[in-house]
Amino acid sequence: MRIGYGFDSHEFKPGVPLVIGGVKIDHAKGLAGHSDGDVLLHAITDALLGAIAAGDIGSFFPPNDPKWKGADSAIFLAEALKQVKAKGYKVENVDSSLVMAEPKIGPHAKAIQKNIADLLGIWPDCVGVKAKTPEGLNLENTAVAHAVVLLSTKVR
Ligand code: MG
Repeated sequence: MRIGYGFDSHEFKPGVPLVIGGVKIDHAKGLAGHSDGDVLLHAITDALLGAIAAGDIGSFFPPNDPKWKGADSAIFLAEALKQVKAKGYKVENVDSSLVMAEPKIGPHAKAIQKNIADLLGIWPDCVGVKAKTPEGLNLENTAVAHAVVLLSTKVR
């Protein structure tokens, strides 16, 4: 068994689409970043890589590489999953917390949960998506994501 933890943060920026957990959310601002800025998929990607001590998202996808400009972060997650499988592990479950002032994640949580489950090839009830507002953190223009994953050894 292995446990992995990932963290990410991105600043909100007007005029770009907001994508969280691979789901497009209608909002006046999106997340700035070299890729699509999907803070949640980045945190889960790092959690997967961390669980197998394989570095982090930046070691596979350098942020200065023009190839990843505007990239769909599902690509990053897929690579991390490939690394996990290559090491003989499978994903048991994922849990996550999003911290942002707005938009409200509640109405989108089910869609995000389903999409992450599909990307990882696990059941939606193995994907926790929780959301909080940044009370007292002074992070009104920032989206933060934390994620943990549990991996089990595949029977060979
Ligand atoms: Mg990121």
